[in-house]
Amino acid sequence: MTGLARDGGLYVPEHWPRFSEEDLASFAGLPYPELAVRVLIPFVGEDIERDTLRKIVRDAYRGFHHKLIAPLRQIGPNQWVAELFHGPTLAFKDVAMQFIGPLLSHLLTERNQHATVIGATSGDTGSAAIEALRGREGLEVFIFHPKGRVSDVQRRQMTTVLDDNIHNIAIDGTFDDAQAIVKGLFNDSAFRDERNLSGVNSINWARVMAQCVYYFSSTIALGAHSDRRVNFSVPTGNFGDIFAGYAAKQMGAHVGDLLIATNVNDILVRCLTTGRYETHSVIPTISPSMDIQVSSNFERLLYTAGGRDAAKVVSQMDQLRGTGSFVVDNLGLSEIRKDFLASRVDEATTSQTIGRLWSENGNLIDPHTAVGVAAAHERSDDLSGPTVTLATAHPAKFPAAVQEATGIEPQLPDHLSDLFEREERYDELPNDLAAVKTYIREHTAL
Ligand SMILES: *Cc1c(COP(=O)(O)O)cnc(C)c1O
Repeated sequence: MTGLARDGGLYVPEHWPRFSEEDLASFAGLPYPELAVRVLIPFVGEDIERDTLRKIVRDAYRGFHHKLIAPLRQIGPNQWVAELFHGPTLAFKDVAMQFIGPLLSHLLTERNQHATVIGATSGDTGSAAIEALRGREGLEVFIFHPKGRVSDVQRRQMTTVLDDNIHNIAIDGTFDDAQAIVKGLFNDSAFRDERNLSGVNSINWARVMAQCVYYFSSTIALGAHSDRRVNFSVPTGNFGDIFAGYAAKQMGAHVGDLLIATNVNDILVRCLTTGRYETHSVIPTISPSMDIQVSSNFERLLYTAGGRDAAKVVSQMDQLRGTGSFVVDNLGLSEIRKDFLASRVDEATTSQTIGRLWSENGNLIDPHTAVGVAAAHERSDDLSGPTVTLATAHPAKFPAAVQEATGIEPQLPDHLSDLFEREERYDELPNDLAAVKTYIREHTAL
């Protein structure tokens, strides 16, 4: 229910549940929602009854426009993409968020509670949260996006939702500023309790949990087993999506190497290469959902791969806040390198990759997906066996970059074709925590 833990850290399971080979074999052929139930059960335990969980999950995936939810498409020899963009807002974030919506509703109703949901977005989290939570009783939703730094499609997907419980705010700053505001709100215990704050950023464990499922579905669909693992190339920003792959691997899924694919905002690539995690300033790119410097979920990996030493992570996070950097020790780094590779993809290569896939086989891919495909291509010698790149957004969500690379204007699916005629509603606020608190108090009906 809460995003951030009260001590400022992130929640991590005490241990990884582990599926046996027989369990995995029994997952083969299950419809996606049923597979999701099986994968989620160990995390949910007795807190939600099986049938209720089944209902929540069915509810979650009803709004998808592809029956397989996360279909695979082959793009080359040993190369696939997993299309995760068939949800209502055309980005992979729907896969988790559509689950969070009915889950949160269920828990609040059961506890007879209200909640204020807050989230910072570089574009896609916001619309996914808004679509999942619009009109839901007992919930006020405040979504902060960096003013002028999200695409028109992304902004309109958020600001044209006019339900009374949805509040869009353009913050005069970067995504990291917006994310710092959300952390600031959570770290104010009095405010947190007064509003019963809940978070839906990728630091929310329930999101990571829901994202594990497509690593299972993809490895199973490709017939993976312990001697033929499937690698994943994951366009990475906040490290939530790829951390879910790591979690799935710990749980027994036949995941091979995990390739962290970043754009020129490459803090993770530099960290895996040198051991130093050091923030620079954010560079705007054609894959804006990955234009971040602080990759929040990496903290989870530092903990789980670093010997579960909480004190060490606390000190690393303190150093990051104080000096803008910290060092991962050699032990931690070699542990991380067992599962992860990292590649940085520049803007020209991203664009060429969109063009290449279009001319090779008529596939239109969005710039985020292109970062993943380019990284998998560049590192193909290091990756043995099949590689799946997660296609994190529909090409029509980022039409300018796709048109520039291919000359083709990608079309929005029917359910969004009138997006540019819809009325918009949002407010602008300075990058100032106090102003944001006042705004939330003044705009809450509960
Ligand atoms: C959010 C997002 C990403 C990055 O995912 P993380 O979990 O933050 O690493 C990549 N691509 C798209 C399209 C996104 O919306």
